[in-house]
Amino acid sequence: MPAEFFAEISDQKTPPTYNYFNGSQWVPSSSGKTTQVASPIDGSVIGFLQVVTTAEIDAVMDKAAASQPAWEATPLHQRVKIMHLAADWVRHFEEYLTTLLVNEVGKTADDAKSEIKRTADLMDYFADEAQSIHGEEIDSDNFPGYDKGRIALIERVAHGVVVAIAPFNYPVNLAGSKIAPALLMGNNVVFKPPTQGGISGVHLAQIFRKAGVPEGVISCVTGKGEEIGDYLVGHPKAGMIAFTGSSDTGVAIAGKAPMKPLLFECGGNNPAVVLPDADMSLAAREIVKGAFSYAGQRCTAIKYVLGTRETLETLETLVVKMLAELVKMGDPRSPETKMVGPVISAEVAEHIEKFINESVAAGAKVAVGGKRNGAYLEPTVLTSVRPEMPVVAQEIFGPVASFIAVADYTEAIRIVNASRFGLQASVFTKDEGTGLVFAKQLNVGSVQINGSPQRGPDHFPFLGVKHSGIGVQGVRYSLEAMSRLRPIVINKPQ
Ligand code: NAP
Repeated sequence: MPAEFFAEISDQKTPPTYNYFNGSQWVPSSSGKTTQVASPIDGSVIGFLQVVTTAEIDAVMDKAAASQPAWEATPLHQRVKIMHLAADWVRHFEEYLTTLLVNEVGKTADDAKSEIKRTADLMDYFADEAQSIHGEEIDSDNFPGYDKGRIALIERVAHGVVVAIAPFNYPVNLAGSKIAPALLMGNNVVFKPPTQGGISGVHLAQIFRKAGVPEGVISCVTGKGEEIGDYLVGHPKAGMIAFTGSSDTGVAIAGKAPMKPLLFECGGNNPAVVLPDADMSLAAREIVKGAFSYAGQRCTAIKYVLGTRETLETLETLVVKMLAELVKMGDPRSPETKMVGPVISAEVAEHIEKFINESVAAGAKVAVGGKRNGAYLEPTVLTSVRPEMPVVAQEIFGPVASFIAVADYTEAIRIVNASRFGLQASVFTKDEGTGLVFAKQLNVGSVQINGSPQRGPDHFPFLGVKHSGIGVQGVRYSLEAMSRLRPIVINKPQ
């Protein structure tokens, strides 16, 4: 069944070359160029993606812009039905998509499966929630100086064509979390999957198409972001950019898409602040889970831990012990492997190793780990770290947790707030009141009290401040962000 359902998206060779979806058909690019996708697990080539031309982007954009009004005029209940069907197809192909994800981005099977399940649930939830989004009516006489002479009818309308750009680490979920609300609110979508993760991405695009999304309403263009991205986001027919990826790419894209609505989820460099009264076992377990799940390649991963010297000494012993029990690095296809497979490529691993070595040269100490073999980096805990060291100043997208000792908790707040990142922070304390007071002083998107940073549940608001994002997501918030208000004011003749 998967072979038949996905037949037209590739040339069926081994390894396959995938087509791009021009809104009507899956076709090869006239560029004659492709990008190779190799598995981070062992470097084997698993496929090739088309590199589309600027003329092909123009054609996709023209078609998307031309067909968008008809899609927006399609009754919501029909769009909802298509979304539920797409969610069912995602569920139906769970095993197949899980295997693709494991090979393409090196997640463990459990992590990959949970990404697929969560995407289907999210699409259903979006479809249900979209039915309760509606406009409002406001009378004019509330404001001083006005009588009842005006009524504003406030509608929610689409932005037009949404360019949806997903990152490698959740190429299915973070594509679905953009495509679903955009379509439900009446936008057309031009989807640009990540190159690594693009094979999973083109499969998702085919699912939307097969679920009944009409011609032109969704398209899927592939090619390296650095080659096609600027043209895509700066395109005059792009009505909105929904992007997840690194802060540096986010800053670059924002500069190329002036005056367009932006919904960005960017880098996180999330701290865990452990107060002396915390349940240290709980904090250690959450730090291990938070720092090492999916080899630390989560925007919500814990990257550094702040506490007094005594607190950190207690934590270090517990974290190193739990790490040995809960985490095992290895081939993510093996059931023995727990949490840590390869990072996305050997080049990235080498880069992270360099940051570790530079930090050690500057005085950090390796409590555990620190070694690399190709794309595999040992889960690493560093102590005696200072905020200006590369392992904390940069977002290290790998299995590394850095311990920073502070003189007092005012210093901890100062360090968190001085960071250019501001996605999430965790505070561990047995006293929720203290946690609340502490949380209110942190300039980040969300604060977790007694838990590691996380995105879910997906109907909670999710946002980053500073270089960590623009706008708010979460089911209702994403639907609102994927639409705008259109007030129509009726002036009654006096
Ligand atoms: P990335 O290198 O910034 O790439 C993200 C996406 O942008 C990819 O599809 C990439 O395409 C594309 N891209 C690159 N340059 C572009 C350009 N000039 N114009 C348009 N698109 C361009 O990020 P990544 O390595 O895939 O993902 C990891 C990063 O994402 C981390 O920083 C992580 O924290 C962040 N992230 C944040 C969240 C959040 O919710 N805040 C969630 C997940 C991940 P190519 O792949 O073809 O280069």
